[in-house]
Amino acid sequence: MNNRVHQGHFARKRFGQNFLNDPFIIDSIVSAIHPQKDEALVEIGPGLGALTEPVGDRLDKLTVIELDRDLAARLKTHPFLGPKLTIYQQDAMTMDFAALAKEQGQSLRVFGNLPYNISTPLMFHLFSYTDAIKDMHFMLQKEVVKRLVAGPDTKAYGRLSVMAQYYCQVIPVLEVPPTAFTPPPKVDSAVVRLVPHATLPHPVKDLRLLERITSAAFNQRRKTIRNSLGNLFTVEALTELGIDPAMRAENISVAAYCQMANYLAENSPSKES
Ligand code: SAM
Repeated sequence: MNNRVHQGHFARKRFGQNFLNDPFIIDSIVSAIHPQKDEALVEIGPGLGALTEPVGDRLDKLTVIELDRDLAARLKTHPFLGPKLTIYQQDAMTMDFAALAKEQGQSLRVFGNLPYNISTPLMFHLFSYTDAIKDMHFMLQKEVVKRLVAGPDTKAYGRLSVMAQYYCQVIPVLEVPPTAFTPPPKVDSAVVRLVPHATLPHPVKDLRLLERITSAAFNQRRKTIRNSLGNLFTVEALTELGIDPAMRAENISVAAYCQMANYLAENSPSKES
């Protein structure tokens, strides 16, 4: 049997289509989400409805965002889900989640088995709407979940860890083998829960500076920060901040990165790149 065909639909690689087929895993994910009737749930990439059906079962209304026109059309005519669904046939990367929350009159609970090819940029897009989001549950590549939860002094700690933990509390939920999908992806997967902080623990004055510092530091992660961030900070400035210039990107905490961004916001870079 062609393992790219699931429920009569030919899985499209370019849309990252790997459909969940394992009832136990599906049930575990729905339990982790724990959808409640009066909440505003939003699914990214409902596909053939593996999560949409059991979540929709517990709700009166559910918003879904699906890029694939055929799959969106299929959902529209779904026998019992159809009337409950508000379907946006569009790229989730272009979705205005703040407008959606306003429309729903409450913050959103976003979930999805994400297309792996766009999962990182999509999470960055969602991070810019954390004020409008109550929580997020995503199926991702296991390696990406490892990076999201990683702390300093580990190999997995990187720009994604810093940015995700700046905005959210990150909680790994469960690991999922390739056999739980049709067709099976080449990598292991995992589900993660991201809960936006009610109050940012380390607010920065200018997010672009935090992004700039973490990019510069982690793009040259083997170098000491005295070298990788030499264009932005003098050794004296780092010492003044209590940060050892001989450390590498992976040794610096989220709090310290935020402190560095705020220092830059207040003191123009010593040597502009
Ligand atoms: N939720 C289904 C499941 O668990 O079986 C499908 C998951 S599949 C990994 C990813 C889904 O996201 C597909 O239905 C795909 O068409 C959709 N998709 C891909 N790119 C998208 C995008 N940019 N915006 C919204 N949906 C997208």
